[in-house]
Amino acid sequence: MIPYGRQSINDSDIESVVTTLQSDWLTTGPRVEEFERELECVVGAPTISVSSGTAALHSAYAAIGIEPGDEVITPPITFIATQATAALFGAKIVFADVLPDTANIDPKAVESAITSKTKAIVAVDFAGHPADLDELRAIADKYKVILIEDAAHSIGSKYKGRPIGSIADLTTFSFFPTKNMTTSEGGAVSSIRPDLLEKAKKFSRQGLVREPKDFVLTNEGPWHQEVHHFGLNYRLPDVLCALGISQLKRLPEFKRRRQEIFNVYSHELEFSPEMKVPIEKKYADTNWHLFPLRVPIRERKNIYSKLRENGILAQVNYLPAHLHPVFESKGFKRGDYPVAEAFYDSEISLPMHYGLRDEEIEFICKILKTS
Ligand SMILES: *Cc1c(COP(=O)(O)O)cnc(C)c1O
Repeated sequence: MIPYGRQSINDSDIESVVTTLQSDWLTTGPRVEEFERELECVVGAPTISVSSGTAALHSAYAAIGIEPGDEVITPPITFIATQATAALFGAKIVFADVLPDTANIDPKAVESAITSKTKAIVAVDFAGHPADLDELRAIADKYKVILIEDAAHSIGSKYKGRPIGSIADLTTFSFFPTKNMTTSEGGAVSSIRPDLLEKAKKFSRQGLVREPKDFVLTNEGPWHQEVHHFGLNYRLPDVLCALGISQLKRLPEFKRRRQEIFNVYSHELEFSPEMKVPIEKKYADTNWHLFPLRVPIRERKNIYSKLRENGILAQVNYLPAHLHPVFESKGFKRGDYPVAEAFYDSEISLPMHYGLRDEEIEFICKILKTS
């Protein structure tokens, strides 16, 4: 079986984890800060580690103080965590349709969706390809709202030469095994705004205030810590940070191989009249997370099944978020976001991961060409 995504774990990864297991700290120890410092070097802004990409989004929304009734503008083509973590704070989820080429949120649709209640615009770098960040930033500044980037797919990508993580007000990452690097479960939040990052950090560490200068209760004693706003335990343990430190060193190599796989698929499939390969815009330097192939809508199920029969576990990304039954009571229906729906109806994500072998890529292309 050839999975669509898979982790790559080598001897250095194992050694890093084992060394940490034998140390004094399994969690809240020195590997956490070390991982966060190394992340900052890659993403270009101060970063905190958290326990998942979902936790990262939840912490980012906590940092901007989302309250019931606030509106958050999101794209339909994403994993549902982008919406779920804002909805759980009582946000009203607003959708803006995507662009037909990248499936990233369409800045024009975003501007039309802005109201006096808009709190944030959320961009998702689908497949690793950066969203139109300058256009989105201009809209965010014009209407004085926050720009959040769900970069679960795009660690290591660049936008006009700038690393993903250094552009939006808050950027969130996921280190789930199928993503571009892994800590098994894990995630991170980076921010160009120290005030927001501090709030995200407090939220992800139980809301605990530890600095005496910030205390409300000033006479408790040297053991004292206190809570001003509720938080959760979203810490990433040292054991997993150790894996992250080692994986980060391998990220350039992961990116190189993903690009190579992207190039072979593109070359092999671009002349099939029935298939559309993904494009990369001039401004983008993409760390490809997915290879979102587009096929004729009427053929999609057959092609998917044929791949599966041959042991190729392709994926479809994503059921547009507004079509999840959880949104039905809000009145969303098929037809609301036609570009996203057409994208979904024709999409198949081909296997894309570091360990994918050349013969396997060749085999996948052969099956596709005879479908
Ligand atoms: C994977 C993913 C998440 C959630 O990350 P987890 O680490 O699985 O919690 C959020 N958004 C997008 C776009 C994702 O692909």
